[in-house]
Amino acid sequence: MDYPFSEEHRIFRRAVRRFVEEELNPHVDEWEAAGIFPKELYRRMGELGFLGIRFDEKYGGAGADIWSTVVFCEEMGRCRSRGLTMSVLVHTDMSSPYLHQYGSEALKEKYLPALIRGEKIAAIALTEPSGGSDLAAMQTTAKKRGSQYILNGSKTFITNAINADVFIVACKTNPSAGHRGISLFLVERGTPGFEIEKLPKKLGMHASDWGQLSFVNCSVPADHLIGEENKGFYYAMEGLQLERFVACVAFTASAQQALEDAIKYAQDRELFGKKLSEFQITRHKLAKLQTKLEAARQLLYHAARLIEAGEDPTMVVSMCKAFCADVACEVADECLQIHGGYGYVEEYDIARFYRDIRLWKIGAGTTEVMYEIIAKRMGI
Ligand SMILES: Cc1cc2nc3c(=O)[nH]c(=O)nc-3n(C[C@H](O)[C@H](O)[C@H](O)COP(=O)(O)OP(=O)(O)OC[C@H]3O[C@@H](n4cnc5c(N)ncnc54)[C@H](O)[C@@H]3O)c2cc1C
Repeated sequence: MDYPFSEEHRIFRRAVRRFVEEELNPHVDEWEAAGIFPKELYRRMGELGFLGIRFDEKYGGAGADIWSTVVFCEEMGRCRSRGLTMSVLVHTDMSSPYLHQYGSEALKEKYLPALIRGEKIAAIALTEPSGGSDLAAMQTTAKKRGSQYILNGSKTFITNAINADVFIVACKTNPSAGHRGISLFLVERGTPGFEIEKLPKKLGMHASDWGQLSFVNCSVPADHLIGEENKGFYYAMEGLQLERFVACVAFTASAQQALEDAIKYAQDRELFGKKLSEFQITRHKLAKLQTKLEAARQLLYHAARLIEAGEDPTMVVSMCKAFCADVACEVADECLQIHGGYGYVEEYDIARFYRDIRLWKIGAGTTEVMYEIIAKRMGI
């Protein structure tokens, strides 16, 4: 059964799967070791129509539905470099949508076609060295001076910082107004006063480049303000729903793949005269993980239906973010255990998955922050 996907989705799924298997997976060890992957890959994905799935056709997008995004994320989640997947999703669904959703027509015409063709790469800069969970407390400022805004401050942990050309940067335009004083700006790499520094090696997600941004009297044209001044927090709260949703879809698919690998391993491995998969404890462990993964997937499909219907998905997406990250981390731990000592060997994908997946209790809003959102909406 493939509900809710249509024949068109199935064709798209086959295209993304083929691309992942033939054009990505053979190179992932090299890119993981390099801590980055070639920028040209974005152009290739642009040619294949993967970078503007839900964007308006007038900018070169496909104008497709949320289920096409689900298909894309599920198949990209099966790339053996989850870091590469994360970087691509930061470009397609975590950064560029701010421009598509709220940008002026002039900004969209200038940047969206290049982003959709993969000629320019995007990043999103919300987190600061002083903290990521409390967005309203950010310290980077943007002061209006004539036809420019002058940016001062810094952002950290920024995915794609090394490869990106275009940065969506959150700044305080009214520092005394808390979350009501935040605005979003499009800042181009190379703008005087804008420096990018590579960050040290991460625990996982190695092929995804990251860096720290600093702005010192960095002058940005006033028409690079995205949407309205002081509305940035509200835009981010909406944008983060898509960010969390796509990340959950992708890493739940990665966890499904890790489980499939573990099943295969358990069916091959012989111990005490029988296959590891024949021990009841192993069978039940695998069945329990599949049950949790199915629950995670159904919660995600529920969120997709809310997005499709134009309803506020915040409560369900927050549940997805907390629940799917827990399930995926449990899958990683249990599947590594099934591999025994081989699970601790880098050549086995489960070792990389174990390192990669831990991020998802932290990135895009921590599990604690998700439970805070849910508790608030429960009225407690
Ligand atoms: C690999 C990676 C890539 C990233 N990419 C990006 C990116 O592209 N763009 C971007 O803007 N950011 C990015 N981030 C930043 C990420 O979103 C933040 O790390 C995250 O939001 C947490 O912020 P923090 O690290 O400052 O932790 P803090 O906010 O300092 O939190 C520390 C701890 O306090 C807990 N905590 C916070 N609030 C509460 C509360 N109310 N009750 C109880 N506990 C609480 C947190 O859950 C956490 O455990 C990335 C991070 C990583 C690791």
